[in-house]
Formats: sequence, C-alpha cells, structure tokens
Amino acid sequence: MEYTSFLIKYGEIGVKGKNRYLFENALVKQIKYALKRCEGEFNVHKAEGRVYVDALSDFDYDETVERLKSVFGISGICPVTFSEDEGFDKLKAFVVEYMNKVYGNITDGMTFKVHARRSNKRYPYDSMEINALLGEAILGAIPALKVDVHDPDIILYVEIREKIYVYSEIIPGPGGMPVGTGGKAMLLLSGGIDSPVAGYMIAKRGVKIDAVYFHAPPYTSERAKQKVIDLARIVSEYTGPIYLHIINFTDIQLAIYEKCPQDELTIIMRRYMMRIAETLAKQTECLGLITGESIGQVASQTLASLAVTNEVCTLPVFRPCIGMDKLEIVSISEKIGTYETSILPYEDCCTIFVAKHPVTKPSLEIIAKHEHNLDEVIDELVKEALDKEEVIVVSAE
Ligand code: ATP
Ligand code: MG
Repeated sequence: MEYTSFLIKYGEIGVKGKNRYLFENALVKQIKYALKRCEGEFNVHKAEGRVYVDALSDFDYDETVERLKSVFGISGICPVTFSEDEGFDKLKAFVVEYMNKVYGNITDGMTFKVHARRSNKRYPYDSMEINALLGEAILGAIPALKVDVHDPDIILYVEIREKIYVYSEIIPGPGGMPVGTGGKAMLLLSGGIDSPVAGYMIAKRGVKIDAVYFHAPPYTSERAKQKVIDLARIVSEYTGPIYLHIINFTDIQLAIYEKCPQDELTIIMRRYMMRIAETLAKQTECLGLITGESIGQVASQTLASLAVTNEVCTLPVFRPCIGMDKLEIVSISEKIGTYETSILPYEDCCTIFVAKHPVTKPSLEIIAKHEHNLDEVIDELVKEALDKEEVIVVSAE
C-alpha cells in the first residue's frame, strides 16, 4: 500500500474547550518544523477537528514517520487513505480494495473488526450498520479473515466525514504537548548527559526552551563549546529553534577560586550560574529554569547542596532528572540521540576548578558569608559577563 497521507492523533486531555485551536496550531507548526528536514513537500492542515499531513510530492515514508515521532503532542500516526463519498457500494469496494492491498496475502485465522465513526450524521447508515455491512463485504472478499469484535488482530477504522478516511495502523507518537503551548523556560545546558535529557523532558510538556552555557576559555576549549552547540542542535529536533546564550564565566570563576574556600568552589560557582541564568530568563520571558540535577549524583547535588544552590533563585527550578538513576538518564539520552555527543571527552568548566573534597553538606550561612569575599568585584564581573554574552540560534532545520 502506498500511502500519501497521515492522520495525526493527539491526546484529548487538556485540549478540550476554547484553547483547543491553540493546541492544534502549535501542533501544526511543530509538525511543519519537523518535516522541513524530510525529503518531499507536505501540506500540514487542520480539518474537521483533525490534523492531517498530506504528501504533495514523492517522499520517504520511513523518514517521514521517524520525524513525526519526534513531535510532542502526537499520540498516534496513522497512515490513511481516503476517498470522496460516492455512495455505499463505492465505499464497500474501497475498503475491500484497502484490505486486499494491505492484508491481501494473509494466512488463515487472522481476525479483524470494522470500527466506523460517522461525523456526517446525514449518512444513510449508522455506525453499527456500517460496521456490519463493511465487515460482511470484507469477509466475502477475503475468506481467510475472521471477525473478532473483542480482540481482533486488525481494526479497520472507517471515518465518514466530508470525505471517507480508512486506516488500520496506529504508530505510537511521543505523547506530551506541542512545544509552545506551555510557556518558555531557560535550560542550563552543559556538555554532560543529564541536562539535554532535562531539556527534552520539560519540552515534552509543551514548554519552549532557551538555553545558557557557561564556558571558561582558555580553560575550556572551542571544541567543548561546539559540543554544547551540537547537543542543543539535537535537542532542537524536538523543541524547535533554541536561543543558546553563551556566557564567558572565566573571570567569575577565577575570582571565586582566588577568594573563596576550596571545598566551597563548586557550590558558589553553581550559585552564580543560577543567578545569571535567572537574569537571562527574566530578560527573555522565561518562567522557570531547568537543570539536569539528580539527587546525590555528585557533592553539589546532595539535598543540602541543592537547597543552597536553589536559595539564590526566585523563579521555579525544574529538575526532571531529580529522581532518576544515571542509567535511566543514559537510556533516555540514547533514545533521543544525545548520548554519543555527551560522552565526548571535552573538559567542563565545573571540573577544572573542582576541589578534591567538596562540601556535601554546605551551610547556607557559611556559604553566604564567604560569598561576601567577592563583594568588591562580583557585580562588575557579572555585568560584564552578561554584556558580553554571545547568542546563537540553534535549529535543526
Ligand atoms: P550534566 O550531565 O547535565 O552536565 P552533571 O551530572 O555533570 O550534569 P553538574 O556538572 O553538577 O552535573 O551540573 C549540574 C547541572 O548544572 C547540569 O545538569 C546543568 O543543568 C548545569 N550546569 C553545569 N555546568 C554547566 C555549564 N557549564 N553551563 C550550563 N549549565 C551547567
Ligand atoms: Mg556537567
């Protein structure tokens, strides 16, 4: 069977009522974005409370399905065939032809049922009658098939609308909500395994992502920066274009290194990253921050450390990896395609200035006190870092 159209199923939860069109428009936009990377031309459109993708030229079926699988909000991808409504006899012939093409060489014992839906209530038969009559026609044409209304191998969906749509395969989509329906958040994106996964997971709930990366040249290299850009590009396959803010963190790090106790370097540095990320977030209408932190993974991610880091933020901080084991995070990063890039062994600005024995139970009072050692220089250094930010728009197109 050569399909030229897909019917896109999306979760109904949260999309009822007057916001439904916003959800659908965002879905259409994200589908168009995903298909720009495919060979072929497509018309992505809404019709009668559905979203359809029609191929307007030759296209690669597998590649197209693969791209659609990356669009949040899609719960199912149904290769569909359709015809004009030209009477019931024509419809019988149409579904028999469909079954023959798709299941023509089946062996004895395969079971099926017809599942008709009629949104055109003027249609001369109701759904039950359509099920029975089309079932009969199919049985007559392909005797190897049997009917099983409870647990069939094949469900033939027949939707009677303006046109008549027939499909029997539902390829699972990623679920979630279309990006753009849930506001925007600022991802702290490092070159590691966890933060790209964290961005992916929040985007899956419909949140648009901007990102910030702190580098420390010459202690971190161009390659390390390029790795983060590459990771942002992979994440942007799912999220749409990402504004990546690149902040030069070297002077701030050197100041901390010089003026604060060794075992508190990481935690103080993390607090400055969060402060700067929050400033950027507020400048760009982001409603929250996202990190790849996971409880207990390293000294700066004990509950006590997270509490001290969190204390500098007024925006909510989303940490979708917080309760995951490393292996679970790795498995998601493999699934979304960031893993191979994340494990490239380039230096990270956190690891260069790291102490041998970092505090695991920092006291907020003591950390805040030691931060005062920076009073003379830090405002200027933060301002300079922000003034000199580099912004790259990273897109998968
Ligand atoms: P990841 O695998 O995401 O790098 P990690 O296990 O290496 O995480 P840390 O280095 O402690 O953990 O960083 C914790 C979180 O802080 C990261 O998930 C990321 O969100 C943020 N972060 C760390 N370093 C940077 C950086 N250089 N630029 C931007 N964000 C960073
Ligand atoms: Mg890291």
